[in-house]
Order: sequence, then C-alpha cells, then structure tokens
Amino acid sequence: MEHVEGANLIDKLTRALSSEGDAALAAMRNAAEINRLTLYVVGGSVRDLLLERTLLDVDLTLEADAPTLAQSVGADLPDVECVVHSAFRTTTLKGSGFRLDVATARAETYRRPGALPSVRPGSLQDDLLRRDFTVNAMALALTGSHAGGIIDPFDGRADLEAGFLRVLHEDSFRDDATRILRGARYESRLGFRLERRTLRWLKRDVRYLETISGSRIRAELIRVLREPQPERILLRLQRLGALAAIHPTLSFVSRRARAFASLRKMRRQPPATAYLALLAWGLAAEEATALAARLALTRRETEAVRAVPEAKALERELSRKVKPSRAVELLSPLPPASVWALAASAPGQARQHAMRYLQRWRYVKPSLDGRALLALGAREGPALGQALRRLKAARLDGEVRTHREEERLARVLLGLSARTCP
Ligand code: ATP
Repeated sequence: MEHVEGANLIDKLTRALSSEGDAALAAMRNAAEINRLTLYVVGGSVRDLLLERTLLDVDLTLEADAPTLAQSVGADLPDVECVVHSAFRTTTLKGSGFRLDVATARAETYRRPGALPSVRPGSLQDDLLRRDFTVNAMALALTGSHAGGIIDPFDGRADLEAGFLRVLHEDSFRDDATRILRGARYESRLGFRLERRTLRWLKRDVRYLETISGSRIRAELIRVLREPQPERILLRLQRLGALAAIHPTLSFVSRRARAFASLRKMRRQPPATAYLALLAWGLAAEEATALAARLALTRRETEAVRAVPEAKALERELSRKVKPSRAVELLSPLPPASVWALAASAPGQARQHAMRYLQRWRYVKPSLDGRALLALGAREGPALGQALRRLKAARLDGEVRTHREEERLARVLLGLSARTCP
C-alpha cells in the first residue's frame, strides 16, 4: 500500500484532543507499539484532519482484536469509560471532551441490495474498501515505521483538494443506498460536489432506497436534520428523486425550505422532531401514519407527525382574533413539536398565536390550586375542576391579574360568600 507523507497530522490530532483524550490516545499508541500492531486513524477523522475541521470523535482501527487491546488500555486510565460493542468488535473509550472509537479492521460483502453486509475481520485495505466515498477511505498510521504516513488507496486526497465525492465502485449505491443520503449531506457540509460518474450512478440507482429498512433511513435522516441547514440537503435529495424513492408521500419544496429556516429563527437548533413534523406538513392523516411507519419513527416522533393534519386544520381559526385561553384550548392537546411546525408554516396571526402559546401561554397557571380552593371553603367535585379551568382562562385572558382578584373570582364561581374584613 502506498504511504503518502501526512506531515504533522499526528501533531494536529493530539492538539485537537482534550488533555485526557490525548493521554488515552498516547496509551493506545503505546499498547499498539508494545504488541507490534499498527494503529490507524480512519475514515471521516482523517478527512477532517486534512480539512482542518473540528474533530468530534476519532475513529481508530487495528488489524487485530480491538476490544482486547482497548479494554486493557481503558482499565489503566482513571475517569475513562470503556464500552465494548462485541457484535461490531468495537470499543469506545470516552472521557472528558473526547471519544475514541477503536474498531477491528473488517471486510464487508453485500449479499443483496439494502441488506446489512456480512462482516468478517479483514486487513486495513479491506476496511478502506468498504467505505462510502474516497475522501472517507483514507487512514493515518499512528505507530510503527510508517507513523505519520497516510494510506490513500483511492486517491481520496486529490478528491479532497478538488472537492469531489466519488464512490469506490459502480455498485456502491446499489449495495447500500443510504450512501445517497450521506452523499447529499457531505455535499452540503463540506461544500463538495458529487463527481460526474458518481452522480450518474446515484441517479441510476436511486430506486434502491426502497430496499433500505426504516430504521437505517431514519438514522441517516436524523443526521441530515442535525446539520446547520438541513433544507439545502432535502432540496437536493428531492431533485435527485431520493425522497420519493424512500416513500411516495415524502417531498420537499421551496416553501417547506422556507418553513425550515423560519423554524430556526424562532428556535435555535430545533429538535429533529419539529423538523420531522414539518416534513409531514400538508399530509392527510393516513399519509402521515404511513410515512411514520416507513421511517420507523420513535413513538414521540410518530405522535408529532400524526398530529400534523390536526395542527394544520387549526390554521384558519388561529388566523382570526382569538383569546389566549381559546388558543390554549386548541393547541394544548397537540405535541409541542407539531405546534412548532404550525408556527413555522402558518402565516401572520396564526403564527403569532402558536408562538405565544409555545413561549408563554402554555406555562400560565392560576396562583390558586385545588387545595387553595378547598381552604376557601369549596367542596370536592366537578365544580372545583371547572372553577380551576375558569381561573386559568381568566388569568390567560387578563381578566384577573393578582392573587386577590383570583380569589374574588373563585368565590363567585364557587358560590362562596365574600370574605368579610375583620
Ligand atoms: P460524520 O458523518 O458525522 O462526518 P463520519 O464521516 O465519521 O462522521 P460516520 O457516519 O461516523 O461518518 O461513519 C464513519 C465512517 O464509516 C465514514 O467516514 C465512512 O468511511 C464509513 N461509513 C459510514 N457509513 C457508511 C456506509 N453506509 N457505507 C460505507 N461507509 C460508511
């Protein structure tokens, strides 16, 4: 395998880590040297080091049983948590401000499109060969005589410089169509373009997204939604035909993109659930249910998506003048994520009502609670609940502003005599 000089990449790597992370990496390197093994940084970590981007996690690989070595290293490091994922022969070492994922190099084969690959231990070359794009298929040796050298069998460095995303072989998207979502995400994140032949193969094989399970699609979609401007990626996926290939109800138009951007203005880093509700905006009840099932959404996400038709149906009433108590009555049965989607999509008044509900009205409570009403002389029963609801509405609508005004109203509502002054 060819080794390209990685100059001071190891220095850059150690500087990018917290001091605890640096100590853990040094201990891993030391253990690898003692065992005459080469420890490599692989995949996106090498790409980000070369691009001088922030490193969140560091992916390490060994052509040996990684958990055995990583566990013995982890056991000697105080304050480092060591988690073994035996199914993947991977171990995570994590501590303050760092995470090292240490994996056994592996080879993968795909029996049929969309199926999870069969995995067996392999060489570094095998491990790079299973990757999605050339820019993610490089390794940096951290130990041994080639320490500091970059292993770049597919010329990923040239693509990194040219800003190209290039698959390693013609059947890449057929083997694993989640790479289509990954490609669009990297285009946006790195400001790269899908290389011409890669784009042709992607368009040819976009239908293989049908073969991918809901949970795998969901995982990649959530990664898309965590990017700073997910709407750019979704517009691209729409143009590539990828959204329709995932599910016929899934589509993304520029109006939806504007709603995504509005949501971010209302709320920094919106939760993925609110974006998911926006993705389902405009769908009928059965369509929303079918989409949630296709994407194998969690229960919470499913509830938010399924409440979308109901939220949309409120647009008209909320576009008129409504009392805060009425807005609360209408909106409180809905999951907050669906109300965020309403706030981001609806025009004028309806948007304002939804926003006020989210930011203020849903937290308003009367100062008197059930116990306070009993102390005033109320009796247990439905009238008590009704009085509490009326008190809350009066507070919301500004009919009562102080504790004393609330008490006066409560007496009237419960038919209690007014308090006499001593
Ligand atoms: P991020 O995607 O957040 O930038 P990353 O590039 O490290 O991080 P991960 O999803 O964490 O990507 O995956 C780690 C590496 O595993 C990738 O760089 C890539 O080489 C490889 N990989 C992940 N998913 C696939 C896939 N579906 N097909 C091929 N290789 C993959």
